[in-house]
Amino acid sequence: MNKDLEMGIYIHWPFCEKKCPYCDFNSHVRDNINHLKWLKAYLNELRYYASETSERVISSVFFGGGTPSLMKPSVIEKILDEIQSLWHCSKDMEVTAEANPSSSETQLFKDFRGAGINRLSVGVQSLNNQSLMFLGRLHNADDARKAIKAATKIFPKISFDLIYALPGQTPITWKKELASAIKIAEGHLSLYQLTIEPGTEFHKKRIKAANEDIGAALFELTQEIMDNAGLPAYEISNHAKKGQESRHNLIYWRGGDYLGIGPGAHGRITHAYKTEMMHNYREPEIWLNLAITKKYGQQKRAALSKEERRNELVLMGLRLIEGISLDHFNSLTNQHLTKIIDKNRITALADQGYLTLNNTVLKTTVAGRQRLNAVLTYLLT
Ligand code: SF4
Repeated sequence: MNKDLEMGIYIHWPFCEKKCPYCDFNSHVRDNINHLKWLKAYLNELRYYASETSERVISSVFFGGGTPSLMKPSVIEKILDEIQSLWHCSKDMEVTAEANPSSSETQLFKDFRGAGINRLSVGVQSLNNQSLMFLGRLHNADDARKAIKAATKIFPKISFDLIYALPGQTPITWKKELASAIKIAEGHLSLYQLTIEPGTEFHKKRIKAANEDIGAALFELTQEIMDNAGLPAYEISNHAKKGQESRHNLIYWRGGDYLGIGPGAHGRITHAYKTEMMHNYREPEIWLNLAITKKYGQQKRAALSKEERRNELVLMGLRLIEGISLDHFNSLTNQHLTKIIDKNRITALADQGYLTLNNTVLKTTVAGRQRLNAVLTYLLT
């Protein structure tokens, strides 16, 4: 496939059974959802973008949320049929859906598979019942294990997420939990540290995540355990066996183009080195009404300045263990990365052991990834 034509499609389903106390995603609880109306809105927005991107090849579709496992499989199937009819899709297109153990069962998974999903990402968050209660989840560790077991039998690829650095968590308890996760993991695991985001219930209650030192110790321990288990990091929080990396997320991190369909979704489209950003209205009902009446629910569309594009590519690329290929950066922007970033700053960060730069790649070290926000602030301001 011509890599320049590759594009992903993200579809946002904004509903959950319950709002988790740490969650700042665009997720909402509603009593009644008109699935057919939502389907119509998604199809309208896909058609709107198809007219200007019809030459692109879709290599990944990602149903995220919210809880997409609450979508009707027939809705997913019709969305995928429409994508196949509007674009050329790569033969090995990856089609991911996020699922919660509380809204999953073997028959539903089979129906999702029948609808065209070939990769399931299960929101496990913890395999410890006490932690799951603290995180306000509707499932217990047993439900999570059952969901993973069922998913493993049905989908060619599966992943699941865990959250660590919870208050009171120690290296010993995390090591034990991670070891039990590795036993049931297939090729991919996402391991996030708890952060307390403004607007969440945890923030209102002034809950504190593990302190910085413990967070750093847990991060290092995680890298070591995952390396030894043959699931090394390929991004700060994502670990996979070779070939099992999330194709969709790699599109984001490598600066590729993607469409964002649904409330609050973002997209990027590049033509002749110029990248436009689009983002949709976040409120589900506002987006829905616009996508029905006007055929799309965009709130903003604007060209990124050269500096904005550079910052975005650096911010994303330095998350990856492979780093930023200088040739690839040049092919996306027609600019040389090392000429548009202050060389002295790169050298200073390299001297401190946070970055490495050679003739082909700029990348972070483990220490740099642990302090990525500080590294980026220094590098890009
Ligand atoms: S299930 Fe996921 S998206 Fe929904 S509220 Fe919980 S963390 Fe947020």
